[in-house]
Amino acid sequence: MPGKVLVTREIPEAGLRVLKEAGFDVTVLSEAPPARDGLLEAARGAKGVLSTVTETVDGEFMDVAGGGLKVVANMAVGYDNVDVGAAQERGVVVTNTPGVLDETTADVAFMLLLAAARRLGEAERTLRAGRWEWWGPKLFMGPDVWGKRIGIVGLGRIGQAVARRARGFGMEIYYHNRSRKEEAERELGARWMELDELLETVDFVSVHTPLTEETRHLIGAEELGKMKPRAVLVNTSRGPVVDEAALAEALEAGSIFAAGLDVYEEEPKVHPKLLERENVVLAPHIGSGSIETRDRMAVLAAENIRAVLRGEPPKNPVEQ
Ligand code: NAP
Repeated sequence: MPGKVLVTREIPEAGLRVLKEAGFDVTVLSEAPPARDGLLEAARGAKGVLSTVTETVDGEFMDVAGGGLKVVANMAVGYDNVDVGAAQERGVVVTNTPGVLDETTADVAFMLLLAAARRLGEAERTLRAGRWEWWGPKLFMGPDVWGKRIGIVGLGRIGQAVARRARGFGMEIYYHNRSRKEEAERELGARWMELDELLETVDFVSVHTPLTEETRHLIGAEELGKMKPRAVLVNTSRGPVVDEAALAEALEAGSIFAAGLDVYEEEPKVHPKLLERENVVLAPHIGSGSIETRDRMAVLAAENIRAVLRGEPPKNPVEQ
């Protein structure tokens, strides 16, 4: 059974241990994202691939890997970098790592929400530059978070973890999904709204949908225009769910108060107008990046590969 498993990036040792103990011939590619040529070359003959969000795993990749390829385990809950349709056509199982990163990613969403509202980035830059001269009654004022209204776009696993945090801050919770989540409504006191109405109603918007054709630029100029002038937008989902150019314009015009972002349309590039602005907090895609959670993600991805290559059902298969 054992054969070649390609791990496209350096991952926590706990994940590699699962693969090595199962007897696979493990190739670990690089710390930085591999160049396409090197990635394809390394894929030749692999039975299993452990990929991350920085690799495009498409039909070409699978064809180069060859007919022995049985499983692509993406070390992420999002799998917009994998062509699941192409995998299904070739009989390749695709898996992801849902559930183990919800609380950790929700922590980052809430961290960005607080930092954007209370102007932490701007205030810290001022202090570090030696420009903080005195305590001031009007210095770095921002809107309160506690007791306000939050709107969660995509009340799934991570969205619900954000809602639990919001409850601790005494916030009213509104959400928009394609379908109602009645259990979450009962547990969290969350109220469903159409997207337009939600944007007009809430003080904070946190986006948690997957990236699909339907959610690309779900938050664009029109949607930003519906938000309150003191509203704060947080995006920890995937960059293209928010129209970055439109967001930069809204922040410049002051039509919303601030934003907190962990993800970007063309990572690692960030829209130059966002880089110039004080009223946006920018994190480099660190949502799931706690020590414990990255271990759990690596182990889960490795276990999914081991299961498929042993002929067992994997824990986290994804379908188109
Ligand atoms: P999930 O449990 O599947 O939740 C996603 C939610 O989005 C679902 O409740 C779904 O509900 C809703 N949704 C889907 N399409 C929608 C649409 N067109 N309009 C409105 N709502 C829609 O996923 P999750 O585990 O919470 O993860 C969410 C995303 O977060 C992932 O896909 C990933 O891209 C991102 N993520 C980012 C990081 C990071 O490091 N920043 C870390 C982890 C995850 P309906 O089906 O009812 O619409």
